[in-house]
Amino acid sequence: MDFRDSPEEAEFRADLRRWLETNARDVRIPDDPAERARAQNRFHQRLYEAGYIALSFPSEYGGHGKPPTYEAILNEELAGFGAPPIEGVGHMSNALLLFGTDDQRRTLLPGLLSGATQWCQGFSEPGAGSDLAGLTTRADLVQVDGAPHFRINGQKIWTSFAATADMCFLLCRTEPDAPKHQGISILLVPMTTPGVEPRRIVNAARNTEFAEVFFTDALVPASCLLGQRGQGWAIANQLLAYERGPSDVNFIARIGTYLQSLEQDLASGRLPDDDMSRRRVGEAYVELRALQLKVQRSLTDRVHGALPGAEGSIDKLLLTRADQCIGHAVMDLRGADAVLAEDLSWDVYVWSRASSIYGGTQQIQRNIVAQRVLGLPRH
Ligand SMILES: Cc1cc2nc3c(=O)[nH]c(=O)nc-3n(C[C@H](O)[C@H](O)[C@H](O)COP(=O)(O)OP(=O)(O)OC[C@H]3O[C@@H](n4cnc5c(N)ncnc54)[C@H](O)[C@@H]3O)c2cc1C
Repeated sequence: MDFRDSPEEAEFRADLRRWLETNARDVRIPDDPAERARAQNRFHQRLYEAGYIALSFPSEYGGHGKPPTYEAILNEELAGFGAPPIEGVGHMSNALLLFGTDDQRRTLLPGLLSGATQWCQGFSEPGAGSDLAGLTTRADLVQVDGAPHFRINGQKIWTSFAATADMCFLLCRTEPDAPKHQGISILLVPMTTPGVEPRRIVNAARNTEFAEVFFTDALVPASCLLGQRGQGWAIANQLLAYERGPSDVNFIARIGTYLQSLEQDLASGRLPDDDMSRRRVGEAYVELRALQLKVQRSLTDRVHGALPGAEGSIDKLLLTRADQCIGHAVMDLRGADAVLAEDLSWDVYVWSRASSIYGGTQQIQRNIVAQRVLGLPRH
């Protein structure tokens, strides 16, 4: 691997740095969770308007048609600059690009990429998290006014951003009599559909990002189906493979921002500049760098045409290590201040705990690596 930028990449990186200097220097991350989500969305839209989002997506859908390495450059620069985290939409956008009809791509991708349309991902259920294929939310094909529709009934949980989302990427059971992995489909459901009711959950980070979502006889046209009936399990796995490769969800940028804030604490004397502090910040830097290099390796495969697969679980495990290394350092070094301060310290710590759960737990990632990457026996 040659990690040096090509001349074009170097020029792109320099332009992006100049843009960040001018446009992101004073962008603050508000403490209030609702305000923070709005600020994050505004920053995402500004980056999009400036041409820095959807870099590897085809231009007809609002992208720039560049190789995936440009996504890595964006992530590195946002992280290095300490810019506000931006919305990670690559996992859903890539799934829509791969499996959507022309009409679905044309109508839905530009809004998803630009941040103008907010999406949530309705996969987990109270009885189906790690065992996702055990989901019971049903979508039955029915005729309404002579036209085919799906009637949806069931419940999702831990759905991030569901209460503010415009659309839901919904995993549901359309063929109840088929074997469990084969009876699942994906529907793209407008959240304004009558019978769709999100109820907010306050999480440990004190915000209401999560919701339960209840579906009661919610009717959507059959054209909301993504891919084929019964193809949902394959689509969900492809989407999760993108989600576990952190460049698609911008986690590297987020972790880099936290690392920068720790470094600033050291430089400003807010943290004692002693061996312990320097060692913890150094360890966090090393974990983040290991993650960045692994992600670059995964992106190299993508440049050569490979879709993300089971190997993405290694990226996810490294992401968890980097995130928790920084989260624990914040907590240990700032001590009681981390809990009491009016800044994001507590959230950094709590979110780092969540990274071994979202997108599939740490244990599930290890199972995937053992069985599907290393080829070890199941039992
Ligand atoms: C911050 C955050 C955001 C999230 N956002 C979303 C979202 O937007 N949409 C969505 O659908 N979901 C979302 N989730 C839910 C997440 O996907 C699930 O919490 C996760 O898949 C685990 O499922 P569970 O909570 O039901 O735990 P369970 O599956 O009940 O697992 C409990 C414990 O048992 C272990 N375990 C289970 N099965 C095995 C096994 N076979 N081998 C070894 N250990 C096992 C797990 O590792 C875990 O430690 C989010 C979660 C978090 C924390």
